[in-house]
Amino acid sequence: MRVLVVEDERLLAAGIRNGLAAQGFAVDLAHDGTDGLWMAREHRYDVIVLDLMLPGINGLHLCATLRDEDIWTPVLILTARDDEGDEVAGLDVGADDYVTKPFSSAVLTARLRALLRRGAQPRPTVLLAGDLKLDPATKQVWRGDREVRCTARELALMEFLLRRVGQVVSKQEILGHVWDNEFEGDPNIVEVYIRRLRAKLGRSTIQTIRGAGYRLAADDR
Ligand code: CA
Repeated sequence: MRVLVVEDERLLAAGIRNGLAAQGFAVDLAHDGTDGLWMAREHRYDVIVLDLMLPGINGLHLCATLRDEDIWTPVLILTARDDEGDEVAGLDVGADDYVTKPFSSAVLTARLRALLRRGAQPRPTVLLAGDLKLDPATKQVWRGDREVRCTARELALMEFLLRRVGQVVSKQEILGHVWDNEFEGDPNIVEVYIRRLRAKLGRSTIQTIRGAGYRLAADDR
């Protein structure tokens, strides 16, 4: 398995390389973000270990750029202790996991093996169906270039339908995921919210499948 380690602290980078090499990984090092991005584009690594604070291009920007370019190599970010903002930001731009410095070689290796099992399938951070787009991190919805303001519940419903795009979902499933399993109000609340989303996004956005539920079409327009 070939790993790219992007870390500007040379001692730490060398330590990571030695630890991973001892576990049988082939390791390449980059000491700044510019080199890291170039190497990640040029070679199809199995996994990338990415520091966030880097000279050149920072780690968040590097990771976001890879995902924009449809490169889905699993990325594990290295974060500073006590800065959970970094972890959140990293995962939101498409990183897959993080370890907090200082970490042991055993923990790093175990996390990398877990990521390798998942592989490099596309894992978009933004959900799309036709010209409909939802960013779960920023809580924004767009229809084409137009941003559509939604309430928290409308967003949750939209996200649920987008994650199952093309599939029929029942009213019960929607209630269980968008409200919660203890919801004891009127289940027709689902219809009310579906109507609201149709009013905001266009009538044909969500199809009613008689007797079964609702479906958001993959090529919704
Ligand atoms: Ca650094």
